[in-house]
Amino acid sequence: MATDYYGVLGLARGASDADIKKAYRRLARDLHPDVNPDPEAKERFQEVSRAYQALTDPDKRRIVDLGGDPFDSSAGAGAGSPFGGAGFGGLGDIMDAFFGGGVGGRGPRSRVRAGDDALIVLELDLEQTVFGTTEDITVDTAVLCGTCSGAGTAPGTHPTTCATCSGRGEVQSVQRSFLGQVVSTRPCPTCAGTGQVIPDPCPECGSEGRVRARRTIPVKVPAGVEDGMRIRLTGRGEVGPGGGPAGDLYVEIRERPHEVFTRDGEDLHCHVTLPMTAAALGTTLPLTLLDGEETDVDVRPGTQAGTVTTLRGKGAPRLRATGRGNLQVHVDVQTPTKLDAEQEKLLRELAALRGEDRREPAGEGHGGLFSRVRKPFR
Ligand SMILES: [Zn+2]
Ligand SMILES: [Zn+2]
Repeated sequence: MATDYYGVLGLARGASDADIKKAYRRLARDLHPDVNPDPEAKERFQEVSRAYQALTDPDKRRIVDLGGDPFDSSAGAGAGSPFGGAGFGGLGDIMDAFFGGGVGGRGPRSRVRAGDDALIVLELDLEQTVFGTTEDITVDTAVLCGTCSGAGTAPGTHPTTCATCSGRGEVQSVQRSFLGQVVSTRPCPTCAGTGQVIPDPCPECGSEGRVRARRTIPVKVPAGVEDGMRIRLTGRGEVGPGGGPAGDLYVEIRERPHEVFTRDGEDLHCHVTLPMTAAALGTTLPLTLLDGEETDVDVRPGTQAGTVTTLRGKGAPRLRATGRGNLQVHVDVQTPTKLDAEQEKLLRELAALRGEDRREPAGEGHGGLFSRVRKPFR
């Protein structure tokens, strides 16, 4: 039940400002603790003082006139908040910023807020993602204002208490509703809920406490990173409003396609093309690995198209473990397309020798080349 503040002062609703002042003065003369040592009088004096406050502040009086109680803490009046004493930039304010405190009925919110994270894409060659690198990246980001160090004020000036909300950071409004009077509290529009205004903004940042700047940051890319992975650089993101703690900078890796090798996690793949004769007779293939090392790939006689030869430990290093993946060498066999007369003759002789010159329908029985239906390789 709302207190009858008019009644406390012995007045009727709608009393004039002059009547309120007169009634208060009369009661205060009798009840003030300096003149009346009675503890009951002291309590009564406090009641009278509250009633006087409630009826002389136009916002509060409006609430009283609508049947509400401006000091009702459940309505978020914030009567107990320390007027004008709201500092900023302290650790408490920063913690508030992190934990969402200080907004909505809990006194003014801090001007200082944590900064946003930032994301930048870094394109790398396969050699760089596989073996690691250090790259300089240039980022456009918010940094602490050098002129005001985040305070947002012109040198030698200070923020002042917001006149709209008297530093409380919130304003109240009362609405009639079906259920009665509803007192609602919202952040003060003048000071954006901070309880303070900056009369002389910093000339460099215009009271933001931060400025945009381009800076170059070296990024260490560990060996084995993959396309789409993000590297986090703690505290290298945007500085927050009021010079609040910086967010993190995420560097997203994009891997450029390589001419020879493709990547599948820790494994690398490549394709080599062999003439049909080399596949049949066997050979050694020279191969330059991703790191430039020269190696020989052993091709056994009778190697089929689609055969995969694994070179153990020649893939990408494992990002969160030791060792390396493998290099998978896929063998493609090239069928000759342009045969001169002599080559054709030799091949026909070979076919005859191997009994591969008979034409048999596919899938019927045994023997001939054409009957051997294989699963196609991928
Ligand atoms: Zn305000
Ligand atoms: Zn500044």
